[in-house]
Amino acid sequence: MTISLDTDRARTRPRALPLRCRNCGREREGAPAAICDDCLGPLEPVYDPRRSLPDRATIAARPTSLWRYHEWLPLDGHPRYSPDTGWTPLVDAPRLAKRLGVARAWIKNDTVSHPSLSFKDRVVTTAINAAAAFDIGTIGCASTGNLANAVAAHAARAGLDSWIFIPHDLEVGKVIGTTVFGPHLVRVRGTYDDVNRLCAQVADRFGWGIVNVNLRSYYSEGSKTMAFEIAEQLGWRLPTAVIAPMAGGSLVTKLRKGFGEFVDAELVAGPLPRIFGAQASGCAPIARLVERGDDELVPEIPHTIARSIAIGNPADGRYAARVIRDSGGWAAHVSDEELVAGIRALAVDTGVFAETAGGTTVAAALALARAGRFTPEEEIVLCITGHGLKTVEVVGNTAANIPIIAPRLREVAALAAATAAPGVSAS
Ligand SMILES: *Cc1c(COP(=O)(O)O)cnc(C)c1O
Ligand SMILES: [Zn+2]
Repeated sequence: MTISLDTDRARTRPRALPLRCRNCGREREGAPAAICDDCLGPLEPVYDPRRSLPDRATIAARPTSLWRYHEWLPLDGHPRYSPDTGWTPLVDAPRLAKRLGVARAWIKNDTVSHPSLSFKDRVVTTAINAAAAFDIGTIGCASTGNLANAVAAHAARAGLDSWIFIPHDLEVGKVIGTTVFGPHLVRVRGTYDDVNRLCAQVADRFGWGIVNVNLRSYYSEGSKTMAFEIAEQLGWRLPTAVIAPMAGGSLVTKLRKGFGEFVDAELVAGPLPRIFGAQASGCAPIARLVERGDDELVPEIPHTIARSIAIGNPADGRYAARVIRDSGGWAAHVSDEELVAGIRALAVDTGVFAETAGGTTVAAALALARAGRFTPEEEIVLCITGHGLKTVEVVGNTAANIPIIAPRLREVAALAAATAAPGVSAS
């Protein structure tokens, strides 16, 4: 019984691709390692350039999950876990386009990502299968909130143990959206950067698969699927611009990489979209680096309600700034008041309720539009990466002044009459 089960597991275990250092080019076999032994540069998966690639029709006939693009994901063979993440809606947003003064706008709506309502499901999906490839039974993360939700959910479903480390002061929605899955959750007195440093030591000491530390090379490739889906959902073409929130800075770089890989595979024609990045002013080391134009990231101590993207010393910060500038894009940062207004604007324009990172993205897009960074012909996709019910407290004041009445029709009639009265806005 045990033997047949083990054989079964071995048969369905995916193989993790080899890794290559982005700085010095040295290659090694696949491993739970994200940093080059020689030069400390970041390791990236190596794809066989001669592998056979599918055409549009083949991809289109596959199940609607991010695994439909498995030739561009860092695992060979069948995924053992999380087979059904990805393929979130691309929502046409004409009123937002009008606000931005551009031809077209769409929301890539990862607020409804399965199963944990943020784009972190994508990266955990590739990371947990890398853990399977290395036969690691305990996964973990250093998280600003959404990653904690995703690791806890994916690990619970897979039947794996999880150890999750967060800053002590996260939003209650993020904490409960983690604890419900029964992980080992640990609050750390310190910022995300302190938590991340601790997790690097934890990965070394316990041999766990910390998804954004020692499994990071496999984890971050999952972000590319957002670009692949955008291209396919637009009818196999590219937008002219994409804007996304930045935390560690990985997503914006992987959007660029994903679009590039689809152009290389001749699934879509160029030019590549310009990439724009959004941060909150209370933690904007990457946006400020883009604005300054030099190559030295200045770390910051976060002070913003946009906790999910509040990383003061972002791992991919310099690389992200370079990718943004090379793409012809730009970055913006917005105040906490502006990002809350962004959450509301998105909700009333599109019916999508985003958390603080989504409000940041909308507000940054509006700021970039005011600064003349978009053309009237622009076709822009806004990557909205997490659900608003995770951070309800920031829009709590929308629930002020809700009328309360007796269950009588005439009271409704009085309200309706007051709403319709001249000079009274129907907001
Ligand atoms: C993690 C996260 C991002 C971006 O993450 P990067 O570290 O820059 O890849 C964006 N939005 C939300 C809601 C996130 O949780
Ligand atoms: Zn190296």
